[in-house]
Amino acid sequence: MMGVEYISSDFYFGGCDTVTLAKKYGTPLYVMSEDYICERCKEIGEDFLGKYENTRAVYASKAFLTLEMCRIIEREGLGIDVVSGGELYTAIKAGFSMEKVIFHGNNKTIDEIELAVKHHVGRIVVDNLYELELLNSVAQAFGKKMKILFRITPGVDSYTHKYISTGQVDSKFGIPLKGNIIEQGVKKAMEASNIELMGFHFHVGSQLFDNTSHIKAVKILVKLIKNMKEEVGFITKELNTGGGFGIYYAEGDEPKPLKYFTDAIMNTVKEECNEKDLCMPQVIIEPGRWLVGQAGITLYTVGSIKEIPGVRTYVSVDGGLPDNPRPALYDAKYEAVVANKMDQEKKQLVTIAGKCCESGDILRVDLEVPFLEPGDLLAFKSTGAYNYSMASNYNKIPRPAVVMVRGGENRLIVKRETYEDLLRNEL
Ligand SMILES: *Cc1c(COP(=O)(O)O)cnc(C)c1O
Repeated sequence: MMGVEYISSDFYFGGCDTVTLAKKYGTPLYVMSEDYICERCKEIGEDFLGKYENTRAVYASKAFLTLEMCRIIEREGLGIDVVSGGELYTAIKAGFSMEKVIFHGNNKTIDEIELAVKHHVGRIVVDNLYELELLNSVAQAFGKKMKILFRITPGVDSYTHKYISTGQVDSKFGIPLKGNIIEQGVKKAMEASNIELMGFHFHVGSQLFDNTSHIKAVKILVKLIKNMKEEVGFITKELNTGGGFGIYYAEGDEPKPLKYFTDAIMNTVKEECNEKDLCMPQVIIEPGRWLVGQAGITLYTVGSIKEIPGVRTYVSVDGGLPDNPRPALYDAKYEAVVANKMDQEKKQLVTIAGKCCESGDILRVDLEVPFLEPGDLLAFKSTGAYNYSMASNYNKIPRPAVVMVRGGENRLIVKRETYEDLLRNEL
């Protein structure tokens, strides 16, 4: 029995001692729990896919994407959605089934469209009519017929930070319902030689705790489905309702179970379709953050500590803005623990600062911690989504490594960048 003592003083994650992980791989370090990801996939299976017929779930990979993540998602039976050529390339390299890929984006380049057509991705979510024409001509050149959905701006507000709200009328994403652009689009898509229109997509926003935006958007979309049937004779086969399901980051967050959203979506689709005498389309969900957010933590080592008497104490760590831009970008709040002092009483209030040359590089204001000294290990929780994927090399800081843990085992899935890596493309 190695150290009962250890268990009481060190923070364990995915069955692994984080102090040992930090020693083995260095810090800053992203740690992802495969068990957690699998649990979330199981919940999707039980509460959505298994409960409702004719449904699909697709992981919004922009939250966290690596080759290994693609393999896990494929094994768990989900599809994947990508929003760029680079994300698509990752899925291709991982050997992900292309028919289970959905390609989003409000300005896909010709190169990206060509890559998608060449590999015949399952669905392209067409954002605008310019893209529709572009896609049709590329598909023609490749001799393929591409299945598409139209992204619709449902015109509903969501209760979240404005940078992650996407369904409102004034949005860069999707086709507005005002005017008759969508009718034109549907007609054009039905006539296009190399396109098969399957239905519609919306995504109302992210980190939502309330299902009302989804419900409102579904009602608006079912109305559209009816109008398109009556006006242009288009029968909708698929309705993709996006992601956005919120998770726990810090005190005050009250996340709901997945089924709170999916039951509401399915009940609304059913009721609205019954009422309008329409066949139920296939319903698709696209969770990103919900699937991986709480599956990840980031480990940092404490360096300098600056006490400004009567003002505050700054505790600086060896990472920050480059590995987690969300506090600076969205005022995102995270919880953190001192991973090597779990048994010690919290005695002081400190502010955790990153190491960048930006005053805004603050990871957390007013964190209650035990007495801290240089060399202590901090574990920031819920960093699995939009951290690694949003990381930069600002200040020429190499990106951290990513370690996957499962049942007490650990394995490196992304190597730490080196200074050489930083200069790889410089001439
Ligand atoms: C970002 C995104 C998602 C996932 O959003 P989460 O809030 O991470 O669940 C789903 N669909 C589309 C189109 C997106 O852009």
